[in-house]
Parts: sequence; C-alpha cells; structure tokens
Amino acid sequence: MKRLSCDLLVVGGGVAGVCAAIAASRSGVRTTLVERRAFLGGTGYVGMFHYLCGLYLNGETIPVKPLNSGLTQEIVGLLRNKTPEKSVQKIGQVYVLPYNTNDLQDVFKDLLDAEHGITVLLNTAATAIKAENGNIRNVSLEDPGGTLTITATMVIDCTGNGDVAAMAGAPFELSPVDERQLAGFSIQVCGLVHDDGLLSIKVPYWCAQAVERGILLPAMKFTTFSYGSSPGEGLIKMSLDGEDTPDRDERARKYAHDLLVFLGQFVPAFTHARIAGTSHNVLDREGRRITGDYILTEEDILTARKFPDAIVKNAWPIELWDRSKGTTYTYVQRGDYYEIPFGCITVKGISNLLTAGRCISVSPAALGSTRVMGTCMALGEQAGLAAALYIEDGEYPAPDKRISWNE
Ligand SMILES: Cc1cc2nc3c(=O)[nH]c(=O)nc-3n(C[C@H](O)[C@H](O)[C@H](O)COP(=O)(O)OP(=O)(O)OC[C@H]3O[C@@H](n4cnc5c(N)ncnc54)[C@H](O)[C@@H]3O)c2cc1C
Repeated sequence: MKRLSCDLLVVGGGVAGVCAAIAASRSGVRTTLVERRAFLGGTGYVGMFHYLCGLYLNGETIPVKPLNSGLTQEIVGLLRNKTPEKSVQKIGQVYVLPYNTNDLQDVFKDLLDAEHGITVLLNTAATAIKAENGNIRNVSLEDPGGTLTITATMVIDCTGNGDVAAMAGAPFELSPVDERQLAGFSIQVCGLVHDDGLLSIKVPYWCAQAVERGILLPAMKFTTFSYGSSPGEGLIKMSLDGEDTPDRDERARKYAHDLLVFLGQFVPAFTHARIAGTSHNVLDREGRRITGDYILTEEDILTARKFPDAIVKNAWPIELWDRSKGTTYTYVQRGDYYEIPFGCITVKGISNLLTAGRCISVSPAALGSTRVMGTCMALGEQAGLAAALYIEDGEYPAPDKRISWNE
C-alpha cells in the first residue's frame, strides 16, 4: 500500500478546508489537502449560491471591510477585483457580498497555486482513521488508484459533516432527522420573460400552492427565489426535509422538473423558463457538530459575547430553516458582533485534530449563524494557523500568551 506523510492533513476542500490549507502553508507547514470530489469549493461551489454571508457587521451604513481580516479579507478583495460591478448589498437587515461561483474557484486555484507547500489530492476520500491514546496516527485515503495511508502530525476536519472526527471516535451531536434544518437543492433557471420583478414573492406562493395540490412535498413550500446576475436568470433554492435516503438526489431532480412545469402553467414569467443547472446533490444545512472544549450557544450569539480566546468574529443572525415555520432570523444587536472561541474548533479527547467550517462545536441554534461561508472561511484560516503553532511547539499557546490571530 502506498504511504505518504505530511505535517498537516486537511480533509475537505470546501471554503473552510481551502482557507485552512493556505493559512498553514503560509506559516511554513507542509500541507496535504484532500477532497473527495474532482474540484474544490464544496457547498459554496456546488450550491451555485449568489451571496457570501457572514462577512460584515449589520449597521446603518454599507460596510467597507469584512469583520475578519487576514485571508477572508484577501479573498473578498480578489473576488471584488473579478467583478467590480458586484458590490456589498443589503438584504433585509444584513449585508452580503454577491459572487460568481466560478470566480470563487478561480480565486482558490490562484491562491493554492502560489503555495508550494500544499499538495492537493482531488478525487480522494478519507475513509478510515487510526487513532491511539487520543492521537490520530494515520488516515486511510481512497483514490481511483486504490487505498493509501497518510501520516500527519496534525489533522483538520473540514468535511462539513465532521466525518474525520466521527471516524476517529470523537464525541459529536447530531439532531434527529425530524428536528434538523431543511436541506436545499439549487435550481438555476434561465429564459424568464415578462417579469414583473415580484418572483421572490410569487415563487414561494406558487410552491405552497403546489404543495397543497400534492404536486410537491410539504417541506417544499419553503422554497425561495432570487434573481441571477443576467436578465432572465434566477436561482430557486428548493427546500427538502433532511432525510438522507439513497435516492434523494434523484428525487430532488424529479421535483425540480415538476416544479418548473407547474410554475410554467401559473406564473407567466416561467412560460419559457428552463433549468440551466442544478446543484450536484441535495445540500444539508445541518450535520454533525463535533464536541470541542466549548459549545457555542444561542445566548452567546444574542448577547454578542466576547471570549478571551476568540478566533473569529461573526454578526450573521441565527438563520433557521425550520420544517414547520420556514426561515426565521434572530439578530445580533445592530452594530455589534459575537466571537467564536478557540474551544469551538478543538476536538474533545483527540489532541492532534481540529475542526473548521460547518462541523465546529456549537448548539443546533448557534449553527444557524456559524455555518455561513464568510464565517467558515475565517474558521478555516484560524484552524490552519493554530495547527501551524501546534506543529512547531507541540501544543497550542495558552490564551494569554497567544498573539491575537484575528488582528
Ligand atoms: C441549501 C443551502 C444554501 C446555502 N446558502 C448559502 C448562502 O447563500 N451564502 C452563504 O454564505 N452560505 C450558504 N450556505 C452555507 C454554506 O454554503 C456552507 O455551510 C459552507 O459552505 C460550509 O463550508 P465547509 O467548508 O464547512 O463545508 P463544505 O462546503 O460542505 O465542504 C466540505 C468538503 O469536504 C469534502 N468531503 C467530505 N467528506 C470527505 C471525506 N471523507 N474525504 C474527503 N473529502 C470529503 C466534501 O466533498 C466537500 O467538498 C448554504 C447552505 C445550504 C445547504
């Protein structure tokens, strides 16, 4: 069996994993980034979303700088250079950055290409972990050529679902399926005509009608619509219950088709609309939350709590996609932010493993705020920096000795 080694292994090439790998490599750490798909970007790429959330304070004036400096700010700058016409937008009470998914991939590619200390392995999945005495010894990887084993001083789980930590036997929380937030399936549509600009209201209304007529499943009444960057284009985020059946992607594609046919009958703008693309698969908003030394709570968020070992700032509301109520937003006080402490990215019982991105140590409600992409990028960067310190010194510096990583 082929054997590899590195200082740091980052598993998962979504926004968190890419940022973790870049931050570590810039600190001089020999890093391997493995991604089971053929491309990087994770949910932020396959979801075809329009907005990066979690970057800014909510206030009266359009923010000029993201809350978190460092790599997040650099990525925002590079994205804005690609499409200077796309500026920060206010949607309801929050500010978001419009972006093109292809631009995000290009930015990641350029940043990774500039790092000679990173080896990127695509089409490679972590499938098993050997852990002993609270340490990960090695990780088994499957690629098209077979199985390989990699040893690393430090591992960061950026799989979104905490797969690595779970395989290593770490404790985690996972809400029962019927309490999990709604999952989503993105449908990019084109060919919208005679549009009166009201599709963000009309599409959810007609989805609810389709549910009443038994054409769509109940959760689909919480489907949303947003306009695309070119005339005649839009993005439908179809809501689905979080059930993970083997045929759920296939069923989602069928419902996407049924929805377009239904909208074509009742909404004139959809008469000639076509599906231009869909997300590769159904996308979960909620998965495993790996237990760290601290579990961030709803109260921490709503009281804008600050921590002595803070690593990331966030002001995104608690955005919950509830099965019976639809989307609810509970806001951090205007002009303020809360902090995510280092204890949310450590893994209880495993000293050489950190998490970053969606699977960090938070309560179910807190996840509604921490899971957005701007926050996941900042978490990835901080995990990469912390891993670099651990690799150098064999331990993380105590909070009072730590330089503020987020300045
Ligand atoms: C329907 C929906 C709509 C959303 N809309 C927005 C939005 O508009 N704006 C916003 O900011 N956020 C949005 N989000 C949230 C956001 O996209 C995600 O929470 C965020 O991108 C998660 O990033 P991540 O890097 O933690 O994980 P992911 O993006 O999930 O990346 C994890 C990566 O790990 C890989 N992986 C998993 N297991 C393994 C393994 N064993 N071995 C190797 N690789 C593995 C996966 O293939 C994936 O590429 C949305 C989420 C959903 C579900």
